[in-house]
Amino acid sequence: MPDPVIIACPSCASLNRVPRDRLAAGGKCGRCGSLLFARHPVTLTAANFDAHASRSGIPLVVDFWASWCGPCRQMAPQFEAAAADLEPLVRLGKLDTEAEQAIAGRYGIRSIPTMILISGGREIARQSGAMPRGAIVNWVRQSLA
Ligand code: ZN
Repeated sequence: MPDPVIIACPSCASLNRVPRDRLAAGGKCGRCGSLLFARHPVTLTAANFDAHASRSGIPLVVDFWASWCGPCRQMAPQFEAAAADLEPLVRLGKLDTEAEQAIAGRYGIRSIPTMILISGGREIARQSGAMPRGAIVNWVRQSLA
């Protein structure tokens, strides 16, 4: 298997080894059979956060949001659409700051929406405020360049 990369399953968070040149080809999780890239953000919780943020071989873009936040709700469809543009370069995930206060606290989230780009468990970029799809995609690509 040439140059495999570890991909955390969006459904069960199992770690799958996938050849890098086959990331975009619709591979499925060896444990649960879900598509590894379904062009949708993953719902992040305490149970799967570390698999996607620290153990996966691709970066993770986290949208920290809450249901009471108007700008967060406005950005949601833009973030959803950006997943189609950015997978499998990165994984996109949404973290409800009300439901997962410990993780939000770990990253010192003070305003939402805030996006954080994480690679190998390390924060490499942060952006606050709602952004349209194209700006999200550009921000991620430029941050990784
Ligand atoms: Zn799975």
